[in-house]
Amino acid sequence: MVSVMWFRRDLRLEDNIALSQAFEKSEELILLFQINPEQFLKDSMNHAAFFTSVLHLKKEIEQQGMHLQILHGNVKDSFQKLKEDVPDWSDVYFNQDEKGYGKKRDDLMRTFFKENDISVHSYMDHYLHGADEVHNNSGDLYKVFTPYYNKWIELDKPTPMKVKIDQNKVMKEVLYADNEEKLEKMVEEAELDINYKPGTQAAKEQLKIFIEERLDDYKDGRDYPDEDKTSRLSQHMRLGELSIRTLWAAVQAEASNKSQQTFLKELCWRDFYHMIYVGNPNQKEQPIKEQFSHIQWDNDEEQFEKWVQGKTGYPIVDAAMRQLSSLGWMHNRLRMITASFLTKDLLIDWRRGEKYFQKMLTDYDPCNNIGGWQWAASTGTDAVPYFRIFNPATQSEKYDKSGDFIREFVPELKSVKDKYIHAPEKMSKEEQEACGVIIGEDYPAPIVNHSTARKRAISIYEESKDIK
Ligand code: FAD
Repeated sequence: MVSVMWFRRDLRLEDNIALSQAFEKSEELILLFQINPEQFLKDSMNHAAFFTSVLHLKKEIEQQGMHLQILHGNVKDSFQKLKEDVPDWSDVYFNQDEKGYGKKRDDLMRTFFKENDISVHSYMDHYLHGADEVHNNSGDLYKVFTPYYNKWIELDKPTPMKVKIDQNKVMKEVLYADNEEKLEKMVEEAELDINYKPGTQAAKEQLKIFIEERLDDYKDGRDYPDEDKTSRLSQHMRLGELSIRTLWAAVQAEASNKSQQTFLKELCWRDFYHMIYVGNPNQKEQPIKEQFSHIQWDNDEEQFEKWVQGKTGYPIVDAAMRQLSSLGWMHNRLRMITASFLTKDLLIDWRRGEKYFQKMLTDYDPCNNIGGWQWAASTGTDAVPYFRIFNPATQSEKYDKSGDFIREFVPELKSVKDKYIHAPEKMSKEEQEACGVIIGEDYPAPIVNHSTARKRAISIYEESKDIK
């Protein structure tokens, strides 16, 4: 009898529950990845990075004397074909998805497997605690982060698990060579021209750097975009190139201090937002707080484009948006600032911002991204209150005091003095000429006035509440 190990966003050979079980329980094993073109976001950094990582895993598997089979096309059809080609196929192993597209696919495929007498072995692998594991005293799921965290931190955490790889069990015959060519072509055409390092080895090296050089300063340093004090592990976590259990164990083994605790708390946000998505399956399109479903968004196209291009006239917003388009990653503080600016200052629907981040982020994770956007737009559970609106210039003065981050990503402001770097439009004509930056020519004037926009946003949010 033949078993299948179906990789998804668990692109690693270590500490992988489904893979460990598949090797332990199977006589003959097919390792596979299924590419579903319906799921592609064409011309996006997100998918370019994703498939670069899939190809990397394939090569890693080959280096270990095994083979990763590639299915391509409609999910059901491609598995149907596999069943016809391998009639002895009897069992399938995978780490399950509990929300969004992944859940729909898993539900559909569970029915297919049942109809075809294929036994399903599925596991919760991607989180420390699954969506229904953390309850309040009444047995309900939490809606607010702090009480969730207080309960979550007390629970025993799962430990890393060994995968006993047995090359002899793995089918090496290439079943679909044309699909493998398609994968290679996709990656080649994506031309991911950023410094993107896929794979478990890269993830482990990054983890080592984080623990040795950054963890001790995490609590104080993590809010400053030019200091590089965060782990930069999000792309690996999103793809499962590093297991959450391995990450937890590595950080937990370090000296207990405020920085360590702060970092572990961030990992709790990951579980929290996953639980929230499972409980609110429509959250990609629907605000969780119903009273904000009537907001009259402006959705001004021109302003949206200026936000995308980093030409709003607010240096911190522009630097952040250019960091995103040049690196496929943005610092957390800046994600909050740019999301607040789009939704509150420009009154552009958070769903547009969420989708733009989806396209651009190499660490795109639907739970964290939708959670982050609904937080910033005040529409989510436990979100920032609608009347607490970030002032971009004040945020900039606080978190990029020297303006180094701004100067790195908005080079046209390099010669602007520190005093004006957060609001260059305040320079007089003479000062603009002296530093060679003419506002309106070399760098845009602010596209909105923050204090007017702030008042407008509060009143529009209040109107939405009244409609309810
Ligand atoms: P670190 O500070 O080193 O954090 C370590 C890990 O903890 C992260 O890799 C991530 O897995 C988790 N984490 C940290 N902060 C959060 C958080 N607020 N919510 C959930 N998990 C968290 N994170 C994503 O992984 N993918 C996204 O698509 C994403 N979109 C976001 C959109 C908005 C509007 C906002 C405000 C936040 C978003 N985040 C997202 C959360 C956070 O910004 C990133 O996880 C973080 O910047 C990644 O960098 P890092 O790995 O260096 O972070």
